[in-house]
Amino acid sequence: MTLTPGDPLLLTPGPLTTAAETREAMLHDWGSRDQAFMDANAAVRAKLLEIANAADTHVCVPLQGSGTFVVEAALCTLIARDGKALILVNGAYGKRMARILDYAGRAYEVSETAEDTPPDVPALAAKLAADAAITHVLVVHCETTSGILNPISDIAHAVKDAGRSLIIDAMSAFGAIELDAAKVPFDAVMASSNKCLEGVPGMGFALIRKSVLEGCEGNAHSLSLDLFDQWRAMEANGQWRFTPPTHVIFAFAKAIEQFEAKGGQPGRFKRYSENCRILIDGMAELGFQPLLPQGLQAPIIVTFRMPSDPAFDFQVFYDKVKDRGFVLYPGKLTVAPSFRVGCIGHLGADEMKAALKAMAEVLAEMGVKTGAPQAAE
Ligand SMILES: *Cc1c(COP(=O)(O)O)cnc(C)c1O
Repeated sequence: MTLTPGDPLLLTPGPLTTAAETREAMLHDWGSRDQAFMDANAAVRAKLLEIANAADTHVCVPLQGSGTFVVEAALCTLIARDGKALILVNGAYGKRMARILDYAGRAYEVSETAEDTPPDVPALAAKLAADAAITHVLVVHCETTSGILNPISDIAHAVKDAGRSLIIDAMSAFGAIELDAAKVPFDAVMASSNKCLEGVPGMGFALIRKSVLEGCEGNAHSLSLDLFDQWRAMEANGQWRFTPPTHVIFAFAKAIEQFEAKGGQPGRFKRYSENCRILIDGMAELGFQPLLPQGLQAPIIVTFRMPSDPAFDFQVFYDKVKDRGFVLYPGKLTVAPSFRVGCIGHLGADEMKAALKAMAEVLAEMGVKTGAPQAAE
């Protein structure tokens, strides 16, 4: 790993640790009509399609902003004003899509399971059969709220069989967990520069089925979030409609270069899976218990149940671990008090082991005997 000494290591759902080379790629200025910039932009768009094996069927539309901006843009561009969405919710990011549709004034229904429970695919198929008004199904690939991996292939086939359109928020999975457009039918998938592809934050992108996007003119109620308009304009002259995040794109191109050199998606999956295994095993030695069983855990971020030792105080633990150079993340769960530790970003086995060592030292300093949670009643 090429890290910068003194910088904190971010064991979070984002922003994430990036390689020094990625950050160094930003140390210039470019004009938005600069040929070097337009070439880098075109190359990044093409490579993102390749990662999902979607170059023949989909187009890549990038958008300024954090990941939520492109989620909102994709939902509002693809779902017609008289459309209706079914949102499969098992965490905060599914709920966020519902809030987006509240703002946009699109009809929707929520099908919710607990944060540690994947969506029920037969129930989804039954729901689609029963309600002809539903035009789109929305789902999160890895729900970063808990770290759960949702059964995207089964969901995609159920939606396809019912003749509806699937939109996937794959923000925290894209590039690390396989998503092959030839095997998993989807109309749109959204992700961002700064999760598993390890670019710097600042832009999102949507891979959208070309035949679908062609029919989306006039759907969006927002000019800056209209991905149809963004796509048309970019196809016409190779430029972004409004000031592009030039530095972010050059950093992204550099990050994708390293991604390819290290084996692409399978390589990234392997590194993150090792990070995740080292983390869960090391935390188990300290008594900590993950929320999810192994079969549901994505190698992205791990939720640990809050220890019941009275000497444990999360804020003190967090601050002391941070003083040692590692940033953890609070939990956002309703099912159980918890905190999270990420496995993604430019981190490998050495960094995960160093983080475990720091956590062990802090527990000893705090007088915490075990990280074990309250036994289930
Ligand atoms: C990170 C993330 C997002 C986007 O969050 P931003 O803070 O807007 O970048 C959306 N969905 C999921 C599943 C995520 O993990």
